[in-house]
Amino acid sequence: RPLIGVLALQGDVREHVAALEAGGARALTVRRESELSAVDGLVLPGGESTTMSRLLETFELLAPLRARIADGMPTYGSCAGMILLAEKVLDGRPDQHQLGGLDVIVRRNAFGRQVDSFEEDVDFDGVDGGPLHAVFIRAPWVESSSPRVTVLARVPETPAAGAAAGRIVAVRQGTVLATAFHPELTGDARVHRLFVDIVNRNGDGERKTTDSQG
Ligand code: GLN
Repeated sequence: RPLIGVLALQGDVREHVAALEAGGARALTVRRESELSAVDGLVLPGGESTTMSRLLETFELLAPLRARIADGMPTYGSCAGMILLAEKVLDGRPDQHQLGGLDVIVRRNAFGRQVDSFEEDVDFDGVDGGPLHAVFIRAPWVESSSPRVTVLARVPETPAAGAAAGRIVAVRQGTVLATAFHPELTGDARVHRLFVDIVNRNGDGERKTTDSQG
């Protein structure tokens, strides 16, 4: 089983730990560089991206984390985590840091200031077993994405969705996965299992490279 970290500076860390374990991984909370170097992949939880951004600086994790992501470490960001991974943020704070890795522009608090939370069943590409129940909490959406990014889910066209209908809410770019919603809150581990799978395949690839060199 791969060892997957959950960035534990702020946000819904426990829920991701539980979902990763349900998804077939071992989980480690990550607050320092030594812990970051130990993991095969990392989850950036939901919470508040501006706070996490500030704490990443305080805990001196910004540079090491950017380096590992650039180096191809599988990374999954949910909600605030998606915001951190985006190359660019609309309606963010001018001083908030981006980790990069996801060639998208996200809009923070995109569902509207009045809409604190919104739930909808969404079809998710690459996840079997029917639609996922998606919980959005002051969530971002992906305003635009580069051709290198695969769209995995959009807000369905329902009356409740209103202006959010059709918006991109889950994406993947290589080993980087992001959702605007919180699968860790619903007791459905399918998205985490997908991420564990991405981590496992990545590890296999590394081993193959080593084997062929040896
Ligand atoms: N609105 C939060 C932010 O800007 C994200 C909310 C969440 O993670 N549930 O970071």
